[in-house]
Amino acid sequence: MSWEPDAACHSGVAALYFAPYAECGPERELRERAAKAICARCPVRRQCLESAMSADIRYGLWGGLTEDERRRERRNRARRRRAMA
Ligand code: SF4
Repeated sequence: MSWEPDAACHSGVAALYFAPYAECGPERELRERAAKAICARCPVRRQCLESAMSADIRYGLWGGLTEDERRRERRNRARRRRAMA
């Protein structure tokens, strides 16, 4: 994708973006917080999020949002589309 070279994340921090098997609550929270801190200063955050949303990527943290947050965002967008129709 054309925006990837500008991403603030890189291979050295890739493990922050995907939950390891059997990760528990506090560990997940710390990992996601660290990943989101990188996303917060990423110049291509919007493109990253839209790419994940349009491709319906279910796993990992993309564009600063976790799987659950993207699922919620997907529902909210659908709700807004229905309200505008
Ligand atoms: S928004 Fe986050 S996951 Fe997406 S490219 Fe930027 S740093 Fe990486």
